[in-house]
Amino acid sequence: MTAILQVRGLNKAYGGVQAVKDVSFAVNHGELRALIGPNGAGKTTCFNLLNGQLSPDSGEVVYRDRAITGLPPRRIWRLGIGRTFQIAAPFASMTVLENVQMALISHHGRSRRLWSHARNLYHAEAMALLQRLDLEEAARQTCGTLAYGDIKRLELAVALAHGPDLLLMDEPTAGMAPEERAQLMDQVKNLVEQHGMSVLFTEHDMSVVFRYAHRVLVLDQGAVLADGTVGEVRRNSEVQRIYLGDL
Ligand code: ATP
Repeated sequence: MTAILQVRGLNKAYGGVQAVKDVSFAVNHGELRALIGPNGAGKTTCFNLLNGQLSPDSGEVVYRDRAITGLPPRRIWRLGIGRTFQIAAPFASMTVLENVQMALISHHGRSRRLWSHARNLYHAEAMALLQRLDLEEAARQTCGTLAYGDIKRLELAVALAHGPDLLLMDEPTAGMAPEERAQLMDQVKNLVEQHGMSVLFTEHDMSVVFRYAHRVLVLDQGAVLADGTVGEVRRNSEVQRIYLGDL
């Protein structure tokens, strides 16, 4: 297995708080990788360091053998690292289809001033993406009226419109009902298995982590506490201690 992303010795402090401490790990091509840890462990800070929203104090991020440390988010996103957020925020007054068309227009660098022309160009591509996420029936629905699970899946469709090779997903299933969680994660698994994407996701629901992740990275107080397969991480006594044996 070769790594699509390598993180070496990453450090980030906010004032006196060392949010990320000497963190090193890799994400392999075609891997569904979980990043877990208690509140304040440094997961979001890590994501912000990977997608360029923050610059590290020291350390290196290498994506496809290229150092991307400190590049601005737009450059990193153009190189193929996408991101979804804990709180999805589509354009509420637009339809589901229009949101995806807008993302495709932006990805292909077309002007939004030619919106009515440009959106037609990407109609089929947008519908194919919606189909892949079982959202085609909601295509004409205004986003403001969508169910929460559909909003999260739309956010994924928008991220996919940019054709990422590596997707960072910040708590993709937060706030979802159990059956919606399984549906979304099955779709993410499909993206990895059928479309060769690599995914790094944070998650508080351990049943989701243990069911879907190939490998799990555990952070605690900014540092790597454990890194391994689901079995290895579950058996790790330090991990059991911070999760109070709830594994
Ligand atoms: P959660 O699961 O609650 O989202 P997390 O694992 O994502 O937590 P971070 O949000 O990365 O953790 O926070 C790591 C540490 O850095 C915490 O101690 C947090 O209080 C601190 N921190 C995060 N953002 C800032 C900031 N902008 N300014 C100061 N301290 C911050």
